[in-house]
Amino acid sequence: MQTSTLNPKSTPDTYTNADLHAMDARYYLPTFKRYPIALAKGQGSEVWDVEGKRYIDMLAGIAVSNVGHSHPEVVAAIQKQAEQLIHISNFYVSVPQMELAEQLVNLSGLARVFFCNSGAEALEGAFKVARKYAHQQGKGGTIYAFTGAFHGRTLATIATGKPAMQQGFGPIPEGFKTLPFNDIAALEKAYSEDMAAVVVEPIQGEGGVRPAHTEFLRQLRSFCDARGVALIFDEVQTGVGRTGAWFAKDHVQVQPDIITLAKGLGSGVPIGAILCNDKLSAVIDYGDHGTTFGGNPLACAAALATLRVIHNEELLATARSQGHWLRSEIRQWQLPLIEEVRGQGLMIGVVLKASAKPVVEKLLARGILANATADNVLRLVPPLNIPRALLTEVLDTLKQVLTEASP
Ligand code: PLP
Repeated sequence: MQTSTLNPKSTPDTYTNADLHAMDARYYLPTFKRYPIALAKGQGSEVWDVEGKRYIDMLAGIAVSNVGHSHPEVVAAIQKQAEQLIHISNFYVSVPQMELAEQLVNLSGLARVFFCNSGAEALEGAFKVARKYAHQQGKGGTIYAFTGAFHGRTLATIATGKPAMQQGFGPIPEGFKTLPFNDIAALEKAYSEDMAAVVVEPIQGEGGVRPAHTEFLRQLRSFCDARGVALIFDEVQTGVGRTGAWFAKDHVQVQPDIITLAKGLGSGVPIGAILCNDKLSAVIDYGDHGTTFGGNPLACAAALATLRVIHNEELLATARSQGHWLRSEIRQWQLPLIEEVRGQGLMIGVVLKASAKPVVEKLLARGILANATADNVLRLVPPLNIPRALLTEVLDTLKQVLTEASP
């Protein structure tokens, strides 16, 4: 190891954005095409780059910082827990892990939980639980997902995703199939004894903030009940208040057999969760699944504080009202470039008639972070407690940018 290069610069402000991008080009696997800034600080719904430029954060770490950056209660909980106990392995239980398990069981109405470290890992675990359940009923293990879905980047989760994500990574695991989204007839037609589970995002996130129809989700429940198929709601992006309810399933009053969570759960401290009902939980036995880091005291303390803030600051209602206001303001512009404004709570997609990427770049240059999904959808997923004054600033800039870009 070259000790001379170990932390040669100690504070972020000794680097420029360009310095850090040169290091990215030199040292990091080129997996993400990054925007040309390096962020150093966040507070509430604002972030600052290493050169001190401020941005309003309408992306929130891709729907993660639901209570805003460095919320004092979350910071205090992390600090306190870090001083007390960071990690212990899952050979032992801890107060934060058990309290978080109890809270999530109560909030979801499901029976048991398993903590992991990310969304994809939660999905992988959910697939295992569903397959074991199916095998115990003498059925096959195929997992059915839908077009436009995104469940992660591990091998099993890319097997449920777009063919483009699978390119170059074969052999892709077997036992995953894709059917048209919002089409119950296609699912009924595809049914065989090989169908173990159906996995669906109540609102597709990476697929372009595309909602599942309420009727489709209810039909899925009946379909799965009638055939003993496990119904998995992937709420990695929609969960933890994002849509103005604890879980998007609450809006449609459909109770899945399994819910997966991650993103907003730990305010950025990595944590994922698999929540299962009694029926599915019953198939899991000692040794069936595991993790080293998953649900460690630090991550669980961050998640507990996050849930507390959402509850105490009534952020579900805030997400609903702010989201409703934002969507109706944008719709009122009636700009020719906008095809549709959709979403729920503070998970908003502004569907454009052209690529959203140039719009994202222009917003960035004017101090707003957002992103483009499914090419032509501008995704806005700010912290749930973003102040109205910041949203007004965002709307003014967005209107200008979209007007300039309109045909
Ligand atoms: N599921 C959904 C619905 C997601 O939106 C994502 C990430 O965007 C994932 C799963 C994967 O989560 P992670 O990136 O934490 O593995």
